[in-house]
Amino acid sequence: MSQLETANDPRATRVRRCASCGQPSVHCREVTQHLYGGLIPSGRTYVHACAGCGAEFETLSPFRLVRDLFFATISPFVGLLVVLYGIDGPWWALLVGGLMTLFGLYWIYATIRAFVAQVRNPAV
Ligand SMILES: [Zn+2]
Repeated sequence: MSQLETANDPRATRVRRCASCGQPSVHCREVTQHLYGGLIPSGRTYVHACAGCGAEFETLSPFRLVRDLFFATISPFVGLLVVLYGIDGPWWALLVGGLMTLFGLYWIYATIRAFVAQVRNPAV
């Protein structure tokens, strides 16, 4: 297992100003490199923590943000199509479609939340 390279990643090394307490004391404490099939890079997720007040939030790399917005937006529509199929079809399609729709809506929320956290806690 190789160590994740973060020295040249500005998102992982920059200090940010905390939106909760106003102190320039937010550091990145965890970086996750996402891989398709264990091989193809698909962006990074960063967990940031404030040394002053303990506030924590997550941000996404630009590629991860665009990718998540794309798939998160598609998800509820596919879920609704499955629900429509289930109205006159098998009962499980209502359940699967409903869950897929709810998951997609949560995914959109989580992606937007990560982007808002990045804007509200700017690098200093
Ligand atoms: Zn803080």
